[in-house]
Amino acid sequence: MDLGAGVRNAISKITGASVVDEKAINDLIIELQRALISSDVNVKLVFELTERIKEKALKEKTHPSMNLREKIVKIVYDELVSILGEKYEPSIQKKKILVFGLNASGKTTSISKLARFYIKKNLKVGVIAGDIHRPAAIEQLKQLSAEVKCDFFEKGKTPPKELAVEGLKTLKDDVIIFDSAGRNAFDNEMKKELKEIYDAFKPDETFLVVSADIGQVAGKQAQEFSKTIPVTGVIITKMDGSGKGGGALTSTHETGAKIAFIGTGEKPDDFEVFDSKKFISRLIGYPDLEALLEKVKELSEEKELAKAIETGEWNYTTFLIQLKSMKKIGPIKKIMQLLGLYDIPEEFMEKSEEKLKKFEAAVNSMTEEERKNPSLVKIKQRQERIAKGAGIKLEEVKELVTNFDKVEKMYKGLKKNKGMLKKFSNIDLSKLGGV
Ligand code: GDP
Ligand code: MG
Repeated sequence: MDLGAGVRNAISKITGASVVDEKAINDLIIELQRALISSDVNVKLVFELTERIKEKALKEKTHPSMNLREKIVKIVYDELVSILGEKYEPSIQKKKILVFGLNASGKTTSISKLARFYIKKNLKVGVIAGDIHRPAAIEQLKQLSAEVKCDFFEKGKTPPKELAVEGLKTLKDDVIIFDSAGRNAFDNEMKKELKEIYDAFKPDETFLVVSADIGQVAGKQAQEFSKTIPVTGVIITKMDGSGKGGGALTSTHETGAKIAFIGTGEKPDDFEVFDSKKFISRLIGYPDLEALLEKVKELSEEKELAKAIETGEWNYTTFLIQLKSMKKIGPIKKIMQLLGLYDIPEEFMEKSEEKLKKFEAAVNSMTEEERKNPSLVKIKQRQERIAKGAGIKLEEVKELVTNFDKVEKMYKGLKKNKGMLKKFSNIDLSKLGGV
């Protein structure tokens, strides 16, 4: 059974149980442990993880508008994401990338995938054939380059460090990728060669390629290689065919290395940027996980907004949530029409939309402290910094402050007039024939 099927099977112990009780939770835990361990995830990590899930499932309060099943799925999701690390955000700009790893880990194939990835982002890509040891390696890269349509540089058996320098002189591309030679083991010869290439090529990014089927050894390998040259990211290949993907992924994250991409097949398109949240969502296969996560987020935002309305204690965080909830109702035009105002000039509508966007940008470039403490935003130096950060005019920040004060006053007034507040909060805008 692959990891996905195992995890889904575990989740079904909750979603399919007639009653969600301690026994159902225990069944979930046992299945989850089985799935993770058979995918080569470190046993200690598995037990720590499942212990946390159990504790949260039994002790954490369930939000009134979420059911117990949903709560438990969410806990499993969060915990699985946490053992995989963050999403990798590839920078879309000129750069040099060095790709390395042991024999047959999938370096050359991954390079064609990387090339296609950056070409799709409208960057020009060139590759340097640096594997001078394996007889057919240069030809293989040449063919793959032709397939993905990127530039290709080779100079036979020229020593790799010289190839790096000459390749950089010849190729005029935005992204230049160096394909290095693998070895059967990470020996001194390989260390020396890698170090030389690194010094000559001076890469911005260095990707270690490991095959998922080595499982937990992936983490150890990342640790070993990073003693010789920095490892900015790991590419885990053959996620499609391996039963040990879970071990490869978690061990890599555990040793502090970042997972950058995963390979899921032999073709140039079988490749994805690693995003733990997306990965786990798919793995869990809970039909409405996205919707569930969105609901959790909205619930906590709504709670904050409701509290602000009730207490009249307004700050820029709640202001931003209000802006966002207005956007949910729809464009200004729609809101105006809902209020029965049809004769507003188009130009006014567009201006208002634009203004809202600017206000949002301004709040986003405030510090946490400023958002919590609106009086700080009255200080001119701070306003200037916020304007700069948001790319708007100082006058526009001042306008935001004035507006904020007005809204605050309005809510304070509403607070005094409880009856009106009640009426106000009873209006369900979605029932007004909204968007
Ligand atoms: P290198 O020696 O590290 O350059 O490895 P190659 O790129 O030549 O790949 C070795 C073998 O693994 C080839 O047969 C590839 O087609 C295969 N391969 C590479 N990546 C993947 C992958 O993500 N999935 C699958 N199924 N095969 C892969
Ligand atoms: Mg190769």
